Parts: sequence; C-alpha cells; structure tokens
Amino acid sequence: MDWFKRKDKKIKEKNKKSIPDGLWQKCSSCNEILFKPELDKSLSVCRHCNYHFRMHYRRYLDLIIDEGTSERLFSSLKSTNFLNFSANRGYDDQLKDAYLKSGKTDSIEFYRGNINNKSIIMGVMNFDFIGGSMGSVLGEAISRAIVKSRDEKIPLIIICKSGGARMQEGAISLMQLAKISSQLAKFSNEGGLYISILTDPTTGGVTASYGMLGDIILAEPGALIGFAGPRVIKQTIGQDLPEGFQRSEFLLEKGFIDQIVTRDRLKDRLYQIIDILN
Ligand SMILES: [Zn+2]
Repeated sequence: MDWFKRKDKKIKEKNKKSIPDGLWQKCSSCNEILFKPELDKSLSVCRHCNYHFRMHYRRYLDLIIDEGTSERLFSSLKSTNFLNFSANRGYDDQLKDAYLKSGKTDSIEFYRGNINNKSIIMGVMNFDFIGGSMGSVLGEAISRAIVKSRDEKIPLIIICKSGGARMQEGAISLMQLAKISSQLAKFSNEGGLYISILTDPTTGGVTASYGMLGDIILAEPGALIGFAGPRVIKQTIGQDLPEGFQRSEFLLEKGFIDQIVTRDRLKDRLYQIIDILN
C-alpha cells in the first residue's frame, strides 16, 4: 500500500498567513469563526446566532452596576478546610490553587451599587473558584446580603453560575440550602424583592435553593439549568430526554423561569423590574 504514501518529505505551504494565537474563537453553536476583540465588545455573544458564551463574573458588574458606584461587601470571608477533608487531593491544596488561579477567596462576591441610580445589592458567582461551588462561606455571604438588603430595604440580585454544592465541606455545604432558603423566606415575607439570574451553567444545590427562589427568575439564552446532569437522569429513568432538555428555553416553556433576557438588555430589564415592583 505504497501508493498513498507522501513522496516529498516536507510539503511547503506557499503564502501561508499566520494567525496570531488567541485572536479567534469558534462559535460552539454555529461554527462561525469570531474575532475575539469583537466578541469581547459584543459581551461574548455570537453576532451570527446569538449564542451566549460564558462570561467572566467581573464583566457582569461592569455591565449592570452604574460606573463608580460599586462597593464590595463581606470581603473578609474566606473558605478553609475545617473538616480536614482529603480525597484524591486535599481540600487545602484545592483551596490554595483556587486562591492563586482566581485571586479570590470564594465563589461569590457581593457589591452594593446602583442600577440607573436605584440602590441594589448584587452577588455574582465566580465559576473559576472550584466550579462556582456552594460551601459555607458562600452561604454566609448570601445570608448577610439578604439581611443587609432587608435592613436597607433595597432589592437583592444574584447572578448564578455553579456546579453545585461543595462536597469537600460535606453536610455543611448542604446545610447552606436550608440556611439561605429560610433567610429568603423571611425577606420575602417582609416585602423584599429578590431577582435571580441563571447563567450557563446553574446546577445542583444552587438550582435547589436560591437559583429557583427568586421573586423574578431570569435566565440567559441557552443556559444549562438543572439539578442532576442529563446523563444521570437518562440512566436513572432509562429513557431518552427531549430535545433542549434543561436549557433556558425548555424551562421557560415549562414555567420554571419568568423570562429569558439577552445580555445587552439585562441592565434595562432589571431596572424595569425594580422600578415596577420595588
Ligand atoms: Zn454563533
């Protein structure tokens, strides 16, 4: 089978244009090649098909909160390995890596700021910190944010992006569901307004608690939202899952969320909701 062997040792490509590394990105939905600086300008949304790429949490702050008004809250909270947990890797090492990689102390940050001059408290989850997982520090931060919103009588917004509970904190991580949910119930009884925004992906314990407890629940287009992953569900029920299962559009149709909002309209939509309901 010599006939398809390469005869020349080196094939020279003429006029090959060099493409600088990191300047292009292929759209996962429509396969168009996108120029990264342009993609950044369009809030990481594909201009051909409206696919919403995952966006770094800092950019949500710039997008939503009025310039120069944001003030960081509860920044002294920091995760530790209180159970001395160690599996394939020690939780201490994982935390150390996460601090270095993200420069942050946990998977959520809270800010007080304005949306078109209206005061709000907003939390935004950082997926770079152990997959945006929910541990005791996150629970405490959200709890304090709810109390602060209640005291100051201003709306609370949380931008969710999470792989679920942080199992390295065992049952303590699961207890955050109850802690946050009961605080939100009190907040709601006293007339507080809480808006949750579900972004890709919002799964596990976050979906099972504050993700789905918003007075208004918004979602970005095409976001994966669910409790268990589709593979696990498929194995458990032994049936094929419907098309678009666990995506924002499917959840909207089934009544789990109130509205799908594209990134460019997010700030305006939040302002409208707060203006009407608060
Ligand atoms: Zn696209």
